[in-house]
Amino acid sequence: MNDYLIKAINASKDLRLLTINGKDLVAVAQKRHDTWSASSAVLGRSLLGTLLLAGAELKGDQELTLRLLGDGPVGAAVVTAKSDLTVKGYVQNNHVALPAREDGHIDVKKAVGKGWLQVTKDLGLKQPYTGEVPIVSGEIAEDLTYYLAKSEQIPSAVGLSVFVNPNDTIGAAGGFLLQALPGASEELLKETEDRIKSLPQLSSAFLDGMTPEDLAKKILGDDCKILEKDEVSYHCDCSKEKYAGMLATLKGSQLKEMIDEDHGAELVCNFCGNKYNFTEAELQAILDKKLEK
Ligand SMILES: [Zn+2]
Repeated sequence: MNDYLIKAINASKDLRLLTINGKDLVAVAQKRHDTWSASSAVLGRSLLGTLLLAGAELKGDQELTLRLLGDGPVGAAVVTAKSDLTVKGYVQNNHVALPAREDGHIDVKKAVGKGWLQVTKDLGLKQPYTGEVPIVSGEIAEDLTYYLAKSEQIPSAVGLSVFVNPNDTIGAAGGFLLQALPGASEELLKETEDRIKSLPQLSSAFLDGMTPEDLAKKILGDDCKILEKDEVSYHCDCSKEKYAGMLATLKGSQLKEMIDEDHGAELVCNFCGNKYNFTEAELQAILDKKLEK
């Protein structure tokens, strides 16, 4: 398995760390949505960040959706991850490429713009919970750090990196999420912060073959303990039944219009591009069932 996430803890057990290599899954997303460099960076970082959050917070059948609602050229990014560490996502505008920054990196901040970051957690309770913070950076990792501090009161550090090759394929994708547990001393936090600051450029390190285990040791020290290693992948769980269910929530008059005027409906899944066709008869059956109720 190439794409995986690990959970690790430091020797004194007061720092929790998740690290991820997600090159293949970001490559799947890039291909499916035919994204250009800036769109790939925004989508890729969002996929990695959402998986890290899911790995840190979810269990059972829970799922988590990140919405990055910026006013930059890429537009909104929507990503959903489940506790089984599958993820799916899309950005509003797939074909965005921007002039590189002075240091040669993709200008993700500009691609995202200003706006809001929302995280919705469906924990299997009656109402999903949504936390929202303004986009403070646009680099996504910093925005997630801010979200965790502000909305969940968890002191964290997040790093996310996607390297896009000149031909638009994905060269590397990975990142980390560090959380301080209660009892972590100021001294330890400072020391760890310094270690993070002195990390090599994440994208080049991943390109050079750095593994999630290597990254964990760099951040927590060689004596850290790997607690878990789980596969991560891109997976869309859409189906014709799901879309039929969605159609059933429309107003009767809207369904009638689809039948009489459009003579059917074609629905396209934003997350994977699969198309679902509903014939007049199928729409009529959905409408009939609705009227029975
Ligand atoms: Zn789908």
